[in-house]
Amino acid sequence: MAPALSRCRICGRTFRPNRYNPEHQHCCGRDECVRECTRRRQREWYARRCRDDPAFTEKARRRCAAANRRRRERQKLSASNPPPDLPPEATLQALFETVSGFLSQVTDTTDPVELLASMRQYRERGRRMARGPAATAPDG
Ligand SMILES: [Zn+2]
Repeated sequence: MAPALSRCRICGRTFRPNRYNPEHQHCCGRDECVRECTRRRQREWYARRCRDDPAFTEKARRRCAAANRRRRERQKLSASNPPPDLPPEATLQALFETVSGFLSQVTDTTDPVELLASMRQYRERGRRMARGPAATAPDG
């Protein structure tokens, strides 16, 4: 005789439980349901263990804090180091070289003193533009 049908606790569909373990099988065999069932069981176990065992709770708290510290260190490291596959044009040095080359062509000079003076003027202009229209002087 085939075992009776059960209702899945996750999706609500009926299913035929494994005949060797019918009273312990609470979800159907679909991957999503099995994953969700496992997740719920593990969360319940963890919550029960945290409630009943203060030493476990403290140990888990320290383990999580250490993992968070490692994650923050990794984020800090990846923020300070650009990804290695950037093209050579995407560095600050390349941007500086491009801007100074462009400025040199526009002002028709290669004199470093003149270029530096022009760069300061353009930088000041850029700062005023960044502050907003009220701070922008009409003279340029
Ligand atoms: Zn299900």
